[in-house]
Order: sequence, then C-alpha cells, then structure tokens
Amino acid sequence: MQLYGGIEAGGTKFVCAVGSGPDDIRSEIRFPTTTPQETISQAIAFFQQQARQVDLAAIGIAAFGPVDPNPASPTFGVITSTPKAHWSNTDLAGAVRRSLGLPVGFDTDVNGAALGEQRWGAAQGLDTFLYFTIGTGVGGGGMVGGKLMHGLVHPEMGHMRLPHDWQADPFKGTCPFHGDCFEGLAAGPALHARWGQPAETLPPDHPAWALEARYIALALANFIVTISPQRIILGGGVMSSPHMFPTVRSQVQQFLNGYVQSPAILEHIDEYIVAPGLGNRAGVLGAIALGQAASG
Ligand code: ZN
Repeated sequence: MQLYGGIEAGGTKFVCAVGSGPDDIRSEIRFPTTTPQETISQAIAFFQQQARQVDLAAIGIAAFGPVDPNPASPTFGVITSTPKAHWSNTDLAGAVRRSLGLPVGFDTDVNGAALGEQRWGAAQGLDTFLYFTIGTGVGGGGMVGGKLMHGLVHPEMGHMRLPHDWQADPFKGTCPFHGDCFEGLAAGPALHARWGQPAETLPPDHPAWALEARYIALALANFIVTISPQRIILGGGVMSSPHMFPTVRSQVQQFLNGYVQSPAILEHIDEYIVAPGLGNRAGVLGAIALGQAASG
C-alpha cells in the first residue's frame, strides 16, 4: 500500500501525518506555527524520520494563504501576501520538495479539506460543492465540475462583502483589508471584539449567535445563487456552537425565498448544509488527499 505525507499548514498550528486515509494514519505530529524557518524545518524533520521507516510516495500541503496554487507558475507553492508576520513570500512547497525529493501537491487549506471531504467525507459522489471553515478566519473552497476551484489565483470567499445593517450592528469589522467583509464580521476574532469576550464563552442564548447565523446565511445565499453547489459543508470552531446549523439553514431558506427550485433547499436542507464528515480531521486528511493526487 502506498503511503502519503500530509501537512495541514495552519496559521496557528501545523499538523503533519503519514497514512493513506481516515482509517490508516500511521503517524502524526502537531506543533505551533512560529517562524517559517523553524516550522518548516520541524515538518521536514518529521517526514525525513518517517521516510526511514515507510515508503512515502508524495507529500500534500493544505496551507493558509493567500497562496499561489498554480503548478505552472514560478511561485507555485508559495504563501504570498499574508498579513501573518514573517510568512509573506514563503516558499513552503519548494522547501519541502527540495528536502524530501518527493512530488508535492499544494493547495489552500479549504480546497484541501474539500478534496478530503469528497474522497472520504460529506461530499462523496458530488462534483460541485463548497467547503467553508468559520473559526479564527473565514475561508471557502470546493469543487466545480469535479475540479478544485482555481482561477486567477484561488477563491477568497471569506472576503465577500455582505449587507451590513450599521444600526443593528455598529461593529466596524476586523479585516485589515476590508473592515466589514464576511471574515471581518463573522470570524472568531470579530465575535470576540464585538462582544468583548471570546466566542467560545458566549452562552448559547446570547444575541451574538443570531447575528452570526445571519451573516453566514447571507454569504451562503450569495454562493448558492452564483455557484449552485450540490452541498455546502461548514467546519470551524464557530459552527460547533449549538443551534448554529438549524438557524443558518432556516435563514438561508428565508433569504432565497423559494427562488432556487430544488428539493435540496426547499425540503432537505438538513442534508444540504452539513458539518464535515471528517470532523476536525478534514484538514490533515485533505492534505493526504492532495499528496495522493500529486503522486499521479
Ligand atoms: Zn476582508
């Protein structure tokens, strides 16, 4: 059996694993994201040690961004203009490829998770679907027509502009680029800044959650009318709050107001807007799936 390395390269932590799928993870390590030099060296050392014991066919990297995901580009695999300190213009995929001498698959964290969900999770059998993470940041990826979404660069769904009722919500948003974009209004740090306490300490009946569900549902309604996904998967810490899924689903139905004529939305929305089938493992398993794809 062929084994693959996967790197879930997050803004706060890296998770590295070796395996072939959800039921076959041979080894795993996680460590905080510090400087590029220290963090990438730790990842490389892990795989060098693994490669002495098992046969690694390829490495997949699902990275925070923005990134260059175009294999034909000279800056393929580079984390480009990130606001994260020290990480701008970091050649993550190149460093891994040069050190390990293996094929490297590389994509955004959310595209990686989407690929993992299609292979083993909640998007099996689908060719057009979206995957979002709503946590420390907001990111979206997925597939259209069976291909992970790329274009000019890659989608930046977390930075969609949303209708913002300043009277109901005078909070100006936390995005350094846009203020009140989707991420600026709805990521974990926005909840913390708006309500003066960390999102995970807000009680389930706090008005924060109804407002949060409204922003998520506005964004999803916009994505449904542009991409026509067959399913939408919502991951990330914010979605683990109770009642979020039922409230988001019913608000999406309200915003669409019966216009998109599909039983998936009109009758079966519980199976249309869903949690990741791989739970919080979607990221690292997605990286392994990217490795599998890169090995041909
Ligand atoms: Zn933004």
